[in-house]
Amino acid sequence: MQLRRGRIQVVAAERVHVLGPEDGFGARQGTDGLFKSDMQQVASERIANAVRNVPDFPRAGIIFKDITPLLSDGALFKESIDLFLNACEPLKPDKIVGIDARGFLFGSAVAYQLGVGFVPVRKKGKLPYQTKEASYTLEYGEATVEMHVDAIAPGERIVLVDDLLATGGTSAAAAKLITQAGGNLLAALFLIELEFLSGRRHLAPVPVTAFLKY
Ligand code: AMP
Repeated sequence: MQLRRGRIQVVAAERVHVLGPEDGFGARQGTDGLFKSDMQQVASERIANAVRNVPDFPRAGIIFKDITPLLSDGALFKESIDLFLNACEPLKPDKIVGIDARGFLFGSAVAYQLGVGFVPVRKKGKLPYQTKEASYTLEYGEATVEMHVDAIAPGERIVLVDDLLATGGTSAAAAKLITQAGGNLLAALFLIELEFLSGRRHLAPVPVTAFLKY
């Protein structure tokens, strides 16, 4: 049974689907004889095992996907960044946009590795300069995210990064800010997707990739 409580989602029956060749992930042979998709599958399984379910956080009835055990393991953190990197590199982005706050962890690492810029999309009131904002609906009320007005130049190639796609409200608001600034949003990448919430439909027609699907 799956329950929805505001922005944070409950997953009672835990079944993880890790990204594999059936998801259209490219199969390029690696140096150790494994195909790249095989290596990504192995990495995804290790990463999935390091995501901790925390029941009743931040409220009763909610299962929070806690990625801190993954972040604190150097090899796994690197492998998870590499998943984003492999998906991002062929797209040749000019900038990575990361969503407050866990999207910063993966997005900035990818931007560093590709030598491209990083743009934070933050919760309202955190950015110091002039901003554009976009609001989205929660179960009770509204939330707003902001981006600096000069963060993206028209025509820049952008990849959006966050840790988790749930209802899609946050990332759709970020996508709106990117496209309104004239950015060319190439893809949205997530470590985790709660598939049953169909959040990716709010990002259409932007291609969405998630490495672990529940
Ligand atoms: P949404 O706007 O519903 O797609 O929610 C996505 C944002 O909320 C992401 O930035 C996630 O970090 C966070 N989030 C939503 N649900 C969960 C969950 N079950 N566990 C951890 N983070 C979540």
